[in-house]
Amino acid sequence: MNILSKTIAVAVLALGAAQVQAQIDVGGVKAVQGARTTGFIEIADTGDGASRIPVSIIAGVKAGPTLALVGGTHGYEYAPVMGLQMAAKRVNPAELTGTVIIVHVANMPSFLGRTIYYSPADGANLNRVYPGKADGSLSQRIAHAITTQVIEQSDYLVDMHSGDGNEDLRSYIYMPVTGDDEFDAKIKGMALAFGLDHIVIDRRENLPADASLYTDMTGLTRGIPSMTTEVGRVGSTAPDLVRKNAEGVMNLLRHLKMLPGEERPPQPTVWLGEFSVITSPADGMFIASVRGGHTVAKGGVLGQLFDFFGEPIETIRAPFAGMVNYVIATPPMRKGEPVAMVSKIVAEE
Ligand SMILES: [Zn+2]
Repeated sequence: MNILSKTIAVAVLALGAAQVQAQIDVGGVKAVQGARTTGFIEIADTGDGASRIPVSIIAGVKAGPTLALVGGTHGYEYAPVMGLQMAAKRVNPAELTGTVIIVHVANMPSFLGRTIYYSPADGANLNRVYPGKADGSLSQRIAHAITTQVIEQSDYLVDMHSGDGNEDLRSYIYMPVTGDDEFDAKIKGMALAFGLDHIVIDRRENLPADASLYTDMTGLTRGIPSMTTEVGRVGSTAPDLVRKNAEGVMNLLRHLKMLPGEERPPQPTVWLGEFSVITSPADGMFIASVRGGHTVAKGGVLGQLFDFFGEPIETIRAPFAGMVNYVIATPPMRKGEPVAMVSKIVAEE
């Protein structure tokens, strides 16, 4: 049977099922029951350029929840982007309950421009402009499209990051804690299912829905259990990091009962509580003395900041004892930008 007739056969079988899913349309890309469809959400040029957001929609044969997976919010974070391609091929629509919406590369200007943090189009960090604006700058228009077309059509959301092109990062999850116990338990279940062994208990302030700034917060403010994963370091495409992203997605799908099979039980987890993002006091060159995943004492040296002639400006130290989530691993350092993130190790919640 060729692929096309197989798809049709699956679709016909599905129509015979008791439950028929509502048709999902993601910015013009339409779900086909029992199949994976791909296409682009087009972002029109309103003065600062156009962009395209590649999406896959995998629609199961049985009605169920919609999980949104967003990759490439930062354009130099490749392991999740590749992991999502791998997961998209692994999910068999014939076995799927519900729908998976995959945003393969949210921030195409940054991806093709090979930039860290910021879009070359407007200098904005896509993960600080949500929920976006239909008539805003290019990053704001991208955020608006993802908010309205992807997030608001979903029941669960994962924004998948890695160490950016300059960040040496030990894989972890930001697990938001909103104060609503029932809602937070769902997020915790998702975080444990993703299967990383370090979880940051993220007590970030709850922001308003119209100024949610972050991808995950945009989901949270809309009542959608959401989290952010960080798997990968310094823009690496190492197969183990790519696989870890894909495997996290597959186990999350089993956890949400969207795919059959036993959920892999949670592994022993290092819980991280209060965290600090240490920022640079000046422009210069930063040379790290630690790596992502190292533990440090209070006052422990994270690295040295030098001027452009190689003279030391300041020794950057840990504000408290804890674990280094990430540290900047390439020399360019701008005043006010992150040097490292350090978290306190805590007992399990
Ligand atoms: Zn990122």
